Amino acid sequence: MHIPPVHIEYPDWVESLVDWERGYASDEERMRLAIDLSRENVVRGTGGPFGAAIFESDTGKLVAVGMNSVVRLNNCTLHGEMVAFMMAQSRLGCFSLRSDDGPAHELVTSCEPCAMCLGATLWSGVRRVVCGAHRDDARRLDFDEGPVFPESHQYLEARGIRIVHGVLRAEANEVLELYRARKGTIYNG
Ligand SMILES: [Zn+2]
Repeated sequence: MHIPPVHIEYPDWVESLVDWERGYASDEERMRLAIDLSRENVVRGTGGPFGAAIFESDTGKLVAVGMNSVVRLNNCTLHGEMVAFMMAQSRLGCFSLRSDDGPAHELVTSCEPCAMCLGATLWSGVRRVVCGAHRDDARRLDFDEGPVFPESHQYLEARGIRIVHGVLRAEANEVLELYRARKGTIYNG
């Protein structure tokens, strides 16, 4: 039995959309990139309406981006946040984004993480999560976030992961609505 290796790569448009050199100072600037990724993913037909990015918290340096790639790569785990974690850890050559002497990292995501991504957030080593659209916005499109409870967020907070909600929520939600208007695939509803 030969099972092909799992290979994850960005869609072609990433290099033309993402400016890797500039600093992203504010939550809004960082979120705007996550939303741009989500929108481009829809417009280019490469996945669901979700984008994410990993930054160094203090410097605003962009480490990696992610976009929903479930359908494109036939992999139910490839939510935007998961792709961002995998790419960041691949770039840094380490399974954790947390280290005693290195910079703190944060996840910026165009929509509140589902159960899987919230779990991965705990293991990823990020110290902060910034969310755009609310889970209710995604649910209106029949995207299911799975077993995420208020206690889930409290659990992460208790382990030192700060969670910020609703940054540029309206802009993030516009991309969800765009996806609905284009009758995009709902792959986990
Ligand atoms: Zn997810």
